[in-house]
Formats: sequence, structure tokens, C-alpha cells
Amino acid sequence: MKPEKQRAKNRRHRRLWARETSPFPIFGEGVLWFSIVCVLSSLGTASDTKPKTAHAVPASPEQTPIAFNASRAMQYVKEIVGFGPRPVGGVNHKKVEDYILSHLKGIDVERDDFEVTATEGRFPVHNIIAKFPGTKDGIIVIASHYDTNWPLKDVNYVGANDGASSSALLLEIANQLRGKKRDGYSVWLLWDDGEESMRLPWYDPESLYGVRHLAQKWQDDGTLKKIKAFILEDMIGDADLNIEHDTNSTSWLEDLIYQAATNLGYQSHFFGREMAVTDDHEPFLKHGVPAADLIDFNYGYNDVFWHTTQDTIDKLSPKSLAIVGTVTLETVRLVDQR
Ligand SMILES: [Zn+2]
Repeated sequence: MKPEKQRAKNRRHRRLWARETSPFPIFGEGVLWFSIVCVLSSLGTASDTKPKTAHAVPASPEQTPIAFNASRAMQYVKEIVGFGPRPVGGVNHKKVEDYILSHLKGIDVERDDFEVTATEGRFPVHNIIAKFPGTKDGIIVIASHYDTNWPLKDVNYVGANDGASSSALLLEIANQLRGKKRDGYSVWLLWDDGEESMRLPWYDPESLYGVRHLAQKWQDDGTLKKIKAFILEDMIGDADLNIEHDTNSTSWLEDLIYQAATNLGYQSHFFGREMAVTDDHEPFLKHGVPAADLIDFNYGYNDVFWHTTQDTIDKLSPKSLAIVGTVTLETVRLVDQR
């Protein structure tokens, strides 16, 4: 991704939630603009370990607590990172694909496989979609990329936060959805591929391959108009968790995310900064799909760990995975009710 411009130094803001007025935060003079794109990948061996510490968070007294096993999610991150760099077309990338699929046995899975031609050559791109049917007519997509950067393939760049954390998050969400009747929209989990730019710094024409292809495919087959919300996860494992308020995202969906965070008592981790993010949600936004990006784009001071060999698992926290995982599931509940 490419930082476009930075207008002011980071500044955290408190925001008050008022149901009867605008739910949007009031931002002060500190505003950041970035253009981002991120990576993700997944690797590893199947490990369906029993939940060691079920992470239950009450949404409200009358609601069923939202379950999310943070220690298991962190174990998935470790296993994905353990495969090493996972750029498109590589041996490690194939291992991650197999790892993800091994966790989706018994679930309806759609594959979206194609090839692209980039400056460096021709590459396979493989999107993986796991479908959990609901009773309402419509679909909520939760997405994460699982590849790492091709230009960083030889420097042991493993993208623990950028790619692995969000891919692991989706695997744990799959555990929570599996085998349960959904009284709401269908939920589709999307591990998308070829997100990272094939050149550094960011090069728009050779990035976001997976989502661009899938958005067009779903446009052509009529799926796109059924999508009620596209929720993207990217770089969500940072122990110092501060999810951005992305001004490119659909405003009502950002509102619901903040409401979900507030319902769970996690609002201090959300929307302290405002920025415009270019990421995997962009092609869906362009097609008119409501979409939002859950991303913490301040990974180490001044984002120094991003796209470097310092993006390693020691910077992450299971608590951050639990916060984003439960807020995502609470957001799904709010979209169901909308
Ligand atoms: Zn990235």
C-alpha cells in the first residue's frame, strides 16, 4: 500500500455515542489520510484443538454471549506464520490454502481460481469462500487476504499481523458459525488472494487481484446484489489495538461497527483516528456494495513494522483478536436486525 498524504500528526479522540443523533464521531483537527493495501495469508497444519479458554463476551443482558476462542485464534496465527513467506504461486502459499481448507471440512466451500499476468510473470490466484446459510435472504461477507508480498518473498517476511492475524480470525469465526442455525443473513467467509502489490511501493494495477476478480464474478452471476454488508479484516492483531475510522467505508456500516464495539465495551479501541484507506473493500465499494475495513494502520510507532521482517507474532495479542472477532460478530447481529 502507499501512504498518500498525512495531513496532521496522530491524535486520539474520544467520541460520544448518541443514538438519537449522529452516531459518527466528531474528529478534531488531527486527520490522517492514507492509502493502504494489505496482505494476509494463511499457512499451517490443521489443528482443531479444543477450546482452552472460551472467550465469552455479553453483548447485553438479554442476549446470548458472543463466543470467541482467543487462544485458539492465536494458535492459528502461529501456524500460518510457521509456513514462512506465502506470496502467490509459491509452495508455502499452497500449504496455506490446504491449511485453510482443512479447517472447512463439512462446510460448503466455493473456489475462485484464475491466473493473472503481472510484470514479474504469470501467477495463480485462489480465493476461498466458506458459506454458512441463514434464514434471511441476503449475504454478509467477512473477508481477509492471506497472501504476503511477492517483492518480500526472499527476506523472511511472514506478515504475522498483515495477513495471518485476520486469516486466523476468520478460521475462529468459522468455528463459531459451524453447525449452528443462523437466524439472520447467510454469512460467507472469504479468504481472498493476491491482495498485496506485486511491486513496492504500492502499484495499483498489480494488487487487489482476488477481490477485483470476485467482485466482477459476483456482479455477473447476480450474487453481488444480495450482499448486505462486506466486512474486511486487515492488520487486526496488534497488541496496541486502534481500529481506524475509514472514511472510504460505508458510513452506516461504520456506525454499526462502532455501536457493536460500544455494546461490548470496546469502543476505546475504535475510531481514535480518521483516514481514507484503500484496501480489499475497494472493488466492492465501486460496485455499490456496503463495505467497511477493520484495520489498525499504526503498527508500531509510525507504522514501522508494516511490510517489514519485524511483522512477527510477538507484536500481537490474543486480546486484540478477541476484540475484533467479537465486535465483528456483534456487527453481523446488528446488520441482521437492520
Ligand atoms: Zn500488506
